[in-house]
Amino acid sequence: MNIVILLGAPGSGKGTIAVELAKTAGIRHLSSGDLLRGAVKAGTPAGLKAKTFMESGNLVPDELIADMIADTVAADKETQTLLLDGFPRNVAQAEILAKMMADNGITLRCALLLDVPDAVVIRRISGRRVCPACGAGFNVDSMPPKQEGICDACGAALIIRKDDTPETVQHRLDVYAAQTLPLIDYYKQANALVTVDGSHDDLDAKVREALEKIS
Ligand code: ADP
Repeated sequence: MNIVILLGAPGSGKGTIAVELAKTAGIRHLSSGDLLRGAVKAGTPAGLKAKTFMESGNLVPDELIADMIADTVAADKETQTLLLDGFPRNVAQAEILAKMMADNGITLRCALLLDVPDAVVIRRISGRRVCPACGAGFNVDSMPPKQEGICDACGAALIIRKDDTPETVQHRLDVYAAQTLPLIDYYKQANALVTVDGSHDDLDAKVREALEKIS
C-alpha cells in the first residue's frame, strides 16, 4: 500500500476530490472527519470523547484519531493507494503516521496540497450541505441537490454541519493556520510535497495529472 496525504484548509475540496479519485480501482478514501462523525453518531467511547472538541472546531486528541486510523489501515488488505483526508493534522500526528507506515511497510507517495485562498474557502463552506442519513455532500452554489434541501441519493432532509457556522469556520481556519500549516514545511523537507491550485473547478483533472506525474 502507498499513501497520498491530502493537505488543505477546511473547504479546500479535499473530500470532494477524494470521493472522485476513489472511484478509480485500487484507490480508497479515508476521511478522519467522517470516521469521527461515524463514531459520534454510533455513540462509541471514542465518539463521546470527540464530540465536544469537534463541535467547537478544535482538534480531537492525537491518540484518539491516530488509533482509529491505525485500526482502519490494519484492517485494509485490498487497497493500493490510500487517500488520507484530514490526517495528519499537526506535526505530532505526522510523526505517528510515519512510524505506523514504517512498521507496516507502507510508502508515502506524496503529500498533495490543495492551495485555496481563505475567501474561497469561507464561501465554499457557507454553501455546504450534508445528508445526515447517508453522508452525501452538496453545495448550494457549485453542486446543488436536484430538489432544494433534499438528498439526491436517499431523499432525507439536508442539514448544515454544526461546525460549519460562520464563527466556528473562522476558528477552524485559525486552528488550521496554527496546527496544520507547519505540515507543509514538514513534507517539503521530506521532498514529498506536491502543490495544486485548488481555487478552480477543474480540480479533479489537475489532481489526477499531479498524481500521474509522481507515480
Ligand atoms: P474540515 O476539514 O472541513 O475541517 P473534517 O471533517 O476533516 O472537516 O474534520 C471535522 C472535525 O473533526 C475537525 O474540526 C476536528 O474537530 C476533527 N478532526 C478531524 N480530523 C482530525 C485530526 N486528524 N486530528 C484531530 N481532530 C480531527
